Amino acid sequence: MVLPYFLGGVLWVGLLFVPLVYLNFFVSDSIQKLDSWVWPKGGGPPIILLDLSFVEKFGSEPHLGDWNRVLKNVLKHEPLAVVVTKPLVFWEHEVAEKPKPHGPITVPIPDKNAETEFLNILKSGCVFLAYDLLFSKGSPPSRLLPPFDQVDVVLLTPKTSDNVLFAEDGVTRRGFLTYQGQELGFLKLRQRLGLSSNSTPSIPSVRGLFELYDSEQIWLRFKPRSYFKLFRFQDWLEETGDGSELKGQVVFIGEDMGRKVKDYVKTPLEREPGVVTLTEYYAQVWENIINQDALIYLPKWTTHLVTFLVMLLTVYACIHLPPLLGLLNVFGVGALLVFLNWLLLRLGGRQIFLAHPLVGGVVTYYSLLPYRLYLERRQIWEVRREKELMRQVDELKSNFISMMSHDLRTPIARIQGMLEMFLRESKELSLKQREALDFIKISTEDLLRVLNAILTYAHIESQGIKLKKVSKDVNQILTEVIQKHQFLAKLKHIKIQFNQEALFPILVDPELMGQVFSNLLENAIKYSPEGSQVVITSGEREGYVVIEFQDEGMGIPEQEVPYLFTKFYRGKMAKSSSIKGTGLGLYLAKYFTELHGGSISVKSQVDVGSTFTVRLPDSNNS
Ligand code: ADP
Repeated sequence: MVLPYFLGGVLWVGLLFVPLVYLNFFVSDSIQKLDSWVWPKGGGPPIILLDLSFVEKFGSEPHLGDWNRVLKNVLKHEPLAVVVTKPLVFWEHEVAEKPKPHGPITVPIPDKNAETEFLNILKSGCVFLAYDLLFSKGSPPSRLLPPFDQVDVVLLTPKTSDNVLFAEDGVTRRGFLTYQGQELGFLKLRQRLGLSSNSTPSIPSVRGLFELYDSEQIWLRFKPRSYFKLFRFQDWLEETGDGSELKGQVVFIGEDMGRKVKDYVKTPLEREPGVVTLTEYYAQVWENIINQDALIYLPKWTTHLVTFLVMLLTVYACIHLPPLLGLLNVFGVGALLVFLNWLLLRLGGRQIFLAHPLVGGVVTYYSLLPYRLYLERRQIWEVRREKELMRQVDELKSNFISMMSHDLRTPIARIQGMLEMFLRESKELSLKQREALDFIKISTEDLLRVLNAILTYAHIESQGIKLKKVSKDVNQILTEVIQKHQFLAKLKHIKIQFNQEALFPILVDPELMGQVFSNLLENAIKYSPEGSQVVITSGEREGYVVIEFQDEGMGIPEQEVPYLFTKFYRGKMAKSSSIKGTGLGLYLAKYFTELHGGSISVKSQVDVGSTFTVRLPDSNNS
């Protein structure tokens, strides 16, 4: 049994070299999706989105003046900060000279008043502008951005997506926090708002931070979209939105105009492109930093350890459990792992990569299945061979018994013949000699009976028995059987009483039924004390001919009753007494009765007596 475990070990080592990255993230994403049902609605920061309904209502996109009005209305409700995620560029002459890092200019008509007002709003220090940009250390970002007086209000917030790294499926899973040692947008915001415990902008303390090339990032723990409070841009033009939701919050304002693919992200929860806006992604990053609940993936060795355990269990299940249970075990363990991983996420914000354990379980199971089949085949073959051997031994035994019985019968018959002659012709035998000869006669008769029972048994075992049915009155068979046993009964001073009811003849094999009745009557006499009575009753009840043999003998203990009719069984009391027997009488009686479609049963009480009942179907007549 070492071989399958060795094979499992080889598979495990082989699996260490297969990355399975895509599958790992697919499973992890699915578990996060499962988890997304648990988040409360509206628990996150507010998001105000400009969508096409604005254009439908007002006939054009909002002008800078509109943005100013919205911002002023929002600021009235004392938010902690406002992050505008739309690249608002208002200086046409400035932009014309410089490369355009952030798409088309969205406000075509320069409006000097609105520009001044907007700059004043920025000066309040509460409004920040987020740009999907990244600059190398030392390159002044202000050169590529509008010349805001306070560059401090600009948050560089590059988005990430797994296009070349990790799952390579274009899904956004990470948040960029530092680059070449510079703190990026949201860390800066955290510091500006005084929410950071770090006094120096060195390495910040954010849960789950890991290094990737020249940056530090976190795996985002995505909340469902319903977690954020979503508002429409135009509702804030007239201040009709619910202001109480904004107080003390960081409010995100952006657009959902369906303009460019770049304005959207694919997330583990929403893989459809064009659904989750960049603004919502920024809100997710901010949430993760502030709540310190970024996702942490456990180190690789944990995955390999779990894989090892799962594969070990699978080998065991595959080899030792019944096939269906083994299969259930494989799927059950898979489901359990997913469930445990979800619990780990919910309670600890952590995940373990599951692709290896899941693939390992399935691969092990299906690799070992042929081996399992081979074992099973071998087992079946062995059982078959054993059965065949048993059958041959049984046949040999039956043949031997029948041969021996046959061979013994002839000398016994000869002894019987000689005895008869001796008893008939010798007149001057003394009483003692005559008694001795009588004893020899009874003993040989006993011996013959035993031989006959064994022969009948051997015959049944080897060829079965064919019934020779004739229409016969059962009472007549009983009368003959009683007559044959009168001598035996008289020896023990036992009175046989026969209460017979007139019966219609039924179809029976008289010889076999005669043997059934003989066995029962003989037992009744054998196991009864001297001077007792045996009552035989025959009658017809509910379509059955019913024959009862009732004695006042030693009775049968209850625990022995289930075994009485099995071959070679002898009761404890019978075995310890001097009463002779083969243990075949009741077995044959049952066998013959059942051949007739009947049944045999017993009711008995120790030291009171036993009643054996034979029921033969009347329908034999038809
Ligand atoms: P045996 O040759 O031992 O009589 P049977 O098959 O006829 O074998 O009976 C099986 C056992 O059932 C007997 O050994 C005995 O213990 C019990 N038995 C059968 N008939 C009676 C009876 N009438 N009274 C008490 N015990 C009985």
